[in-house]
Amino acid sequence: MNSNRVYTIASIPGDGIGVEVTPAAERVLEATQKRFGFRLDVEAVDYASCDYYTKHGRMMPEDWKKRLEGKDALLFGAVGWPDTVPDHISLWGSLVQFRREFDQYVSLRPVRLMPGVRSPLADRVHGDIDFVVVRENTEGEYSQVGGRMFAGTDRETVLQETVLTRTGTDRILRYAFELANGRPRKHLTSATKSNGIAISMPYWDERVEAMAQHYPEVSWNKFHIDNLAAQFVLNPSQFDVVVGSNLFGDILSDLGPACTGTIGIAPSGNIDPERRFPSLFEPVHGSAPDIAGKGIANPIGAIWAASMMLDHLGESDAAAAIMRAVETSLSDERSRTRDLGGKADCAGCADAVIDALNAA
Ligand code: ATP
Ligand code: MG
Repeated sequence: MNSNRVYTIASIPGDGIGVEVTPAAERVLEATQKRFGFRLDVEAVDYASCDYYTKHGRMMPEDWKKRLEGKDALLFGAVGWPDTVPDHISLWGSLVQFRREFDQYVSLRPVRLMPGVRSPLADRVHGDIDFVVVRENTEGEYSQVGGRMFAGTDRETVLQETVLTRTGTDRILRYAFELANGRPRKHLTSATKSNGIAISMPYWDERVEAMAQHYPEVSWNKFHIDNLAAQFVLNPSQFDVVVGSNLFGDILSDLGPACTGTIGIAPSGNIDPERRFPSLFEPVHGSAPDIAGKGIANPIGAIWAASMMLDHLGESDAAAAIMRAVETSLSDERSRTRDLGGKADCAGCADAVIDALNAA
């Protein structure tokens, strides 16, 4: 928390329903500022969008980094409009740039069962589902190291290396253990596959064990990724903080939110815990061209992302208040959007959250 509690934010709506859900989230943020006595200094950003690409031939201005690196956080909508710009250009020209240049090495995805949202696991769940997936976001299996040999012959051989550095491994594990240490259950689960991947994964396990020594209060266990994926479905209540390498974390961070219902409510953070650079918060969903422009998108994913952003900025009371208001509004059928079987539109759903905030 900074002393005068003024935070500079870049609001980057992007494309499609990003343009609808981001303003909804901003309105919720505005309502919390008054209540909790901090101020957000929000700059609206029109780049990192396919519209910008159409006009300028690039996703972002050349000096984008200089413009954004001093911000306290970035609130992102969605990017992509495949009819006009291929996804690899829009994605690599925006989100991937942020992740790399701002060294957002943590990808954080909360997974929580919410009222009014039908989970495909509804009949299986005994107890709460409330955990977080922590994914390593910069190295691991998604490396550029490898190559093809004997191309086009019977001996064709393809190599793709996994890169685990001690710095990269330890910093994600430290973040995950810190997070677990600050949560009531203080439990961490590590995703591994050291019975099959004989070099990199035993190293990962070793570093988990070493890091665990610094956190005697945190209980921890490890699962092989195949079993872990099964456990997400069979017994999701057992988890608190789940940490995985880039690939394993990627898989789990889609599987987790899928277990709890709709893509419309899931949020995500791309975080630099050391705060050298701004972290980015966004809904998990994409630009959803099929429903864009109709005002019917579910804004809860963006609102939840805004709550994560406040938490990151140190405004945890306001962040928690937003989540309580989200739960209150989701409990009422009238404020649910169509993807949740309701009739509310995007703005109406955000209004309900704001009403719940003001009533609390
Ligand atoms: P990405 O390009 O990010 O991988 P995508 O384009 O494949 O994602 P989305 O844009 O997330 O997928 O949309 C997938 C489906 O979910 C679409 O049918 C879309 O309408 C629906 N959907 C996504 N987000 C929302 C939302 N906030 N509210 C309602 N429906 C949504
Ligand atoms: Mg898409």
